[in-house]
Formats: sequence, structure tokens, C-alpha cells
Amino acid sequence: MPGLEDLYREIILDHYRTPRNRGELAPPAVRAEGHNPLCGDEIQVYLDVVDGVVNDIKVAGQGCSISQSSASMMSQAVKGKGLAEVRALVRRFRGMMSVEDAEDEITAAETAAVKLGDLEALQGVVKFPVRIKCATLAWNTLLLAMSELPAA
Ligand code: ZN
Repeated sequence: MPGLEDLYREIILDHYRTPRNRGELAPPAVRAEGHNPLCGDEIQVYLDVVDGVVNDIKVAGQGCSISQSSASMMSQAVKGKGLAEVRALVRRFRGMMSVEDAEDEITAAETAAVKLGDLEALQGVVKFPVRIKCATLAWNTLLLAMSELPAA
């Protein structure tokens, strides 16, 4: 990954080698899967939401270091958060990846207030357009899983 700073590369490799929240969850957790055929990345997201809060999340799948480390960071970032906060985080991350989202109920201020933490390590990916789909795969799969949640 030429051009990525060493610190960011270390964070990405750490999440790739030691993925957080790896595994599966049994129902009533919802499951969604995503594929990035350009790179061969596969992600499965298992999402357990209780009272509007991400009680647990597990990620399975395989693929390149960007896709898998992004999934690991995503799982770490959303666990324990309320769904509104998760949506703001997804929007913030996709914004960092230059993905344009349609306007929704989340305001720019709410989005700007979201802390990215380790996820900032992935910002260098935006310079490599072909890898953006690797980085956003887990997030798009998370959105898919959230759409599978029973209506509150
Ligand atoms: Zn990939």
C-alpha cells in the first residue's frame, strides 16, 4: 500500500491479523452478507440489537487486508452504540471514503460530531479508488443488517 503512513498501516495490519468481534451470532441476531467482486472480499455481519442499542456484533468473512480490517474496526466502533449514533458513524465513514449519501434525517452537525478513532487509519484508502469498495464493504453490509431488524 504505497503512500499510506506507517502508523495507519500498523493499525490496519493489527486489525487484519487480530480481527475484533470475529464469529457468528445465533438468531434473533440478524445476518447480512456483502461481496466485493472486484477484489473477492466477502463479509458477513451478525447484529444483535436490544432496545435500540447494538448489544453484540460479530463479523465473518475473508478478503484483503483493507476489507477485513475495516470490518474489524467497524465492529469495534459500533458495539454498544445506539442505532442513531451508528447511522451517523456510517455516514461519517462513507463521507471520509467520498461516498455521497442521499440526505436523510441525520444532520451534518451530528455526523461531524462522530469520533472515528482507529477508523482514521483507513482515510488513506480514498487515494486508491479501487480499494474504496474494500473499505466500505463492511459498512454497507452493516446497513443491510440494520435494514433486516424488526421494526421497533
Ligand atoms: Zn479488497
